Amino acid sequence: DLVPIDQRRKKLHNMVEDLKGSIRVFCRVRPLSKKETGQGDSSICEAVDQMTVKVKEEQFLFDAVFTPGTQDEVFEDCRDLVQSAADGYNVTMFAYGQTGAGKTFTMYGTKGNEGTAPRTIQEIFRVTAQGSDRFSYTVSGSMLELYCNNIVDLLSKANPSQSKAKLNIRQEKNGNVSVEGLVEEECSTADELMALLERGNEQRTVAATAMNSESSRSHLVLIIKIISVNKETKEVLKGKMLMCDLAGSERLKKSEVTEHQQTEAIAINKSLTALGDVIEALTKGGKGVVPYRNHKLTMLMQDSLGGTAKTLMFVNCSPASSNLDETFMSLKYAQRAKKITNTATKK
Ligand code: ADP
Ligand code: MG
Repeated sequence: DLVPIDQRRKKLHNMVEDLKGSIRVFCRVRPLSKKETGQGDSSICEAVDQMTVKVKEEQFLFDAVFTPGTQDEVFEDCRDLVQSAADGYNVTMFAYGQTGAGKTFTMYGTKGNEGTAPRTIQEIFRVTAQGSDRFSYTVSGSMLELYCNNIVDLLSKANPSQSKAKLNIRQEKNGNVSVEGLVEEECSTADELMALLERGNEQRTVAATAMNSESSRSHLVLIIKIISVNKETKEVLKGKMLMCDLAGSERLKKSEVTEHQQTEAIAINKSLTALGDVIEALTKGGKGVVPYRNHKLTMLMQDSLGGTAKTLMFVNCSPASSNLDETFMSLKYAQRAKKITNTATKK
């Protein structure tokens, strides 16, 4: 049966109210490309209702399923997270999936059809303008990529081939995570923050070329901090949004023959496995040790994943029959993030 849209929104709202430590997962299935249609691919993903997708006779339940939905619709279900960040929460949004599945489209989108990051930026400045009679806000941005276990500062003016200089992750006593020496620029308008994002993206291309790689082989992380000071009480709240466009989750391809490509693939696999392990530990109620320290990716996210942080995971899927195995594996990975793990019913 179809879940009515207002019922889904109500559920989302309730989840936000007590989202502490839990992880919201949205599945987004992109359309078949012309090339795929041309080569005879058919669609293997069936949306059973607004929260369920079926692949290979197996059903996967998420907080929302978009097939693919519009950028507007997707953002409507993310918008509340921006308010949370302005209220002093740490928020993470990340996109998981194989290369070509729609991660960058979802996170960044295209000119005129912007994804969640540009919309988040607009929303941050709308929310902070709205609250400006009671609070004074400071917004700042940083951008980095994690490539083969090295953090590359995308806003640093240094030559990207030299910026491999190791940046270390520090955890302060209060639990806050920071990257030592990472450029952090204050932005007073949405345009300024957008310009920063574009600069980081350009730098990423330069860095990829210098490292003889592609952007799909690294994790891209945009960090936006929002500090608010209550004008009356002087109380200070620090919120942070981490937006990650993860490296492609596909397994090593047979065509990836060079040692360099294999090293990259192994590094990606290690990091995504570490992330999956952290997510699984968190969904078990955080009892026992959450293995954040297994990887730089999860160390970066330590204060933004679990605890009181609010997390939204996108699992981006290709519907093409030729991508069946990767799509199925992505859905399985994403399903680990849901508390109810026994909803996948085999028929
Ligand atoms: P990824 O970042 O996961 O490698 P991309 O976001 O680059 O994948 O998407 C691959 C291709 O599919 C791009 O040409 C993109 O424009 C297209 N695409 C992805 N998602 C959608 C969508 N929801 N609607 C239309 N086109 C999409
Ligand atoms: Mg991409």
